[in-house]
Amino acid sequence: MAVPGTINKLKRVPVKQRDPKERKKDFEMYTIPYTIEEVMAEADRCLACGLCVPACPARVNIPGYVRAMADGEREKGINIIFRDLPLPQICGTVCTHRCEDACVFHNRGEAVAIRHVKRYIAENSDYTRDVKINKKADTGKRVVAIGAGPASLTIGYYLALNGVHVDIYEKHKIPGGMMALGIPRYRLSMDLINKEVDFIKSLGVEIKYGMEVGKSIGFEELMKKYDAVFIGAGNHKPRTTGTTGADRTDRVMHAIDFLRRVALGEKIDVGEKVIVIGGGFTAMDASRTALRLGAKKVSVYYRRRFEDRPSAGTSNAEEEYEETAAEGVEFVWTVTPFEYVVENGRLKGMKYWKNRMVEQEGGGRAKPVPIKDKEYFVEADTIIEATGQKIDFSFLPEEIKNKLEMDWNDIKVDAKGMTSIEGVFAGGDAVNRTKDIISAVADGKKAAKGILKYLGI
Ligand SMILES: Cc1cc2nc3c(=O)[nH]c(=O)nc-3n(C[C@H](O)[C@H](O)[C@H](O)COP(=O)(O)OP(=O)(O)OC[C@H]3O[C@@H](n4cnc5c(N)ncnc54)[C@H](O)[C@@H]3O)c2cc1C
Ligand code: SF4
Repeated sequence: MAVPGTINKLKRVPVKQRDPKERKKDFEMYTIPYTIEEVMAEADRCLACGLCVPACPARVNIPGYVRAMADGEREKGINIIFRDLPLPQICGTVCTHRCEDACVFHNRGEAVAIRHVKRYIAENSDYTRDVKINKKADTGKRVVAIGAGPASLTIGYYLALNGVHVDIYEKHKIPGGMMALGIPRYRLSMDLINKEVDFIKSLGVEIKYGMEVGKSIGFEELMKKYDAVFIGAGNHKPRTTGTTGADRTDRVMHAIDFLRRVALGEKIDVGEKVIVIGGGFTAMDASRTALRLGAKKVSVYYRRRFEDRPSAGTSNAEEEYEETAAEGVEFVWTVTPFEYVVENGRLKGMKYWKNRMVEQEGGGRAKPVPIKDKEYFVEADTIIEATGQKIDFSFLPEEIKNKLEMDWNDIKVDAKGMTSIEGVFAGGDAVNRTKDIISAVADGKKAAKGILKYLGI
């Protein structure tokens, strides 16, 4: 029997979105923020049990700011958030919100819309006016961070507050890392990224744009010039399938390159029929972007089953799948491409096998095995491979790279965020397995503390 008073708390105040038929025509943001009445009603559902907090990599005091918003105290809320998270509007908009899967209401009813509550608080706050800053005196110490993604921005924020000057070297002309180069504008606008970056810069953090470490300046020079180095270079090297024919046309591209080119303003002609290979969130973004570039038919081909796709079962993955399907993207499961058919330099389509799934002895993900006695063909004007990415180490001299201990493809760090090289710290996608913004923020916070200790501050 329901506890009196809790029955109304089981359902969340609906989060509105633009009509899929309309939104797929442009790059304007498609989610509609809560009104003050909606956000207060939603925040008031929270029981302040705190179950969600350990699920947040940055351990943000979720019940604290949600309660503040329920009481109409937005300014108190933004200050609670900023203790642990200097990118609240970005995370309020696109965080993978694992906290919501841990919410006490998740299994019985609907999780509190934590992300949207945070978004309201951040969107309606003027940080320069509302966030109480206690900046310590200049220590004379200088730290350099490679890459202007969330990990380096977080390092910059916490070190600047502690009187340490931070220079960020960024290869591209815009800030945000994958938040700006990967996540499409219909999910996260550049204005929104700039709002948070500008606030961090207002504390004295400097971003040096168009400066590629390894080309514009050497890594060893940075080690000499600064008291500590932070590697926040992310994962920007495509992992490709190596399918025959891929190198015979420029109509086969990797999703990371495709999304970056679109983000930097290039108008790519994808033709009418687009195939996206993959099943994770990058495949969703690439397919929805192809629709917005004018493709008439966009299909996602994935080697496993629907239920085996990356992060399946999390509310984030389910939401992204539903939103993509609602815009008209078609999904084809259990497929292995074996040839991209190119004639006279022109892409014609893709040959593929269907897979059967073989359960693994002792558990683990079922393995896709191609059934090779029957071949299939599908026409395509463009094929986009959303098959993962890894760190590009071209900025590191060979002898330094050899000293850097790795954990599979990721850089290994200790509890303070320091790598196997003295004074060189790392975080974000280059280090963690979860590869999302809030994990990069958590890594940045950890490394900032580690650097302060290392510098004796
Ligand atoms: C398509 C896509 C969609 C995503 N969607 C989400 C989402 O909805 N929610 C979420 O939480 N996460 C999402 N992510 C993941 C998220 O963007 C990353 O986990 C996060 O940005 C990683 O942060 P980072 O600071 O480690 O590195 P990045 O954000 O990758 O930033 C690294 C920066 O370093 C720069 N750089 C690299 N090498 C050099 C060099 N030699 N010199 C100078 N600069 C250099 C790069 O240009 C880049 O700007 C998405 C990722 C992709 C690819
Ligand atoms: S788990 Fe849900 S109800 Fe409990 S504090 Fe977090 S948001 Fe509130």
